Amino acid sequence: MKLSNYFLPVLKESPSEAEIVSHKLMLRSGMISQSSSGIYSWLPLGLKVLKKIENIVRDEQNKAGVNEILMPTIQPADLWKESGRYEDYGKEMLRINDRQEREMLYGPTNEEQITDIFRRNVKSYKELPMLLYHIQWKFRDELRPRFGVMRGREFLMKDAYSFDINAASSEDTYNRFFICYLKTFARLGLKAIPMAADTGPIGGDLSHEFIIISNTGESDIYFDNNILNEGNKISDISYDDDLNSIVEKFKSYYSASDEKHDKARFDEIVQKEKQMNSKGIEVGHIFHFGTKYSNSMKANVLDSDGKEKTVHMGSYGIGISRLVGAIIESSHDESGIIWPDAVSPFRLGIINLKTKDDEVSSIANKVYNQINDKSEVLFDDKNDNAGVKFSRMDLIGLPNQIIIGSKAVSEGIVEYKNRKSRETEFINLDKLGELLKEMNV
Ligand code: ATP
Ligand code: MG
Repeated sequence: MKLSNYFLPVLKESPSEAEIVSHKLMLRSGMISQSSSGIYSWLPLGLKVLKKIENIVRDEQNKAGVNEILMPTIQPADLWKESGRYEDYGKEMLRINDRQEREMLYGPTNEEQITDIFRRNVKSYKELPMLLYHIQWKFRDELRPRFGVMRGREFLMKDAYSFDINAASSEDTYNRFFICYLKTFARLGLKAIPMAADTGPIGGDLSHEFIIISNTGESDIYFDNNILNEGNKISDISYDDDLNSIVEKFKSYYSASDEKHDKARFDEIVQKEKQMNSKGIEVGHIFHFGTKYSNSMKANVLDSDGKEKTVHMGSYGIGISRLVGAIIESSHDESGIIWPDAVSPFRLGIINLKTKDDEVSSIANKVYNQINDKSEVLFDDKNDNAGVKFSRMDLIGLPNQIIIGSKAVSEGIVEYKNRKSRETEFINLDKLGELLKEMNV
């Protein structure tokens, strides 16, 4: 992608409405543009990151054997009246009347809708466990939308739902998602800590939030520092392994967000120097709620004896749009964003420092033209001065930069810069092909 042809409206100054660093950086790097309170348009750079996160989340759901579907954003109120949540949900729900005066709503979550799909289509225990997910925009009319995409009103969520024949099988499914979540967050370059949590309006008896440590987070978290070293090998775990014992290991460490925190127990089971208390950002939340919805909505199947059984359910969310902000909170410096490789909008930025110099430009164009995957490279071919180019490239956070200036002509060398370490090295132009290959561009 040539920058001269790319819509990247970067800002010099931090907009005054942004309180936290991720919100500032997302606005400054032209990733998003506010539409109204808590509602954003995603511009090219932001959309690219959002899609990369979405695709990693999707890939890990697929690997865990979850089926992708797509449910609508608008739901009929009748389903929510059946479950009893229509009144309970309160002002966070955006309620709409259609032209026939039918009550509709913009979905804040999809337990009712999925239970309806299930009961219409699944009749036998033989089809269980059934695991379904979708990635769809949600609307919650939050009291205090803030921090940009971190607490939006419209936000993108991956939500999955499970149906099992009994509680034991349903808990196995819960553990499957627990592992899937650890794998997903690790791939996104995040250390997400599973924490015992309250179930809130979703209901149920078993729940974990996945929280990343960040001083701008809204949750207070208490945990045993040893849990951070658990799960270093999470990518090696296969779904054929004994997942329950792996999950039990995680659960054996003390970790809880504030509503579930029990100071006496914390003091009892965690050594003083291992006790951690900080702020965190909730990036995912899983719930096991048994028959709460299947009971009220009559989602039954026939068991092996031909008897009607109410299915056991769970639901599993990941805040995809919130993750964009959360990743920036955990990976930036004073110059801007530092994208983890897996979600970086481009793997490489190339800067032509002397766009007005024909010889330098001809080399820079040649380097760019030898790139196979141009969708992963941003080529700064704009007529700005060097300072503007450097700070813009640092701001948008691409992990690798190649800087092409006069030395390319006089000595046949260009500069490589690692965004994270800020280390630079000179590279011979004829060695550049290898480097590009390493970067897989
Ligand atoms: P929170 O406690 O942050 O309000 P929640 O517990 O209400 O979140 P869930 O119903 O568990 O949210 O939704 C699943 C995930 O969706 C959350 O873990 C979070 O990552 C994301 N999410 C929830 N609300 C928002 C929001 N207003 N803006 C962006 N992402 C959100
Ligand atoms: Mg939650």
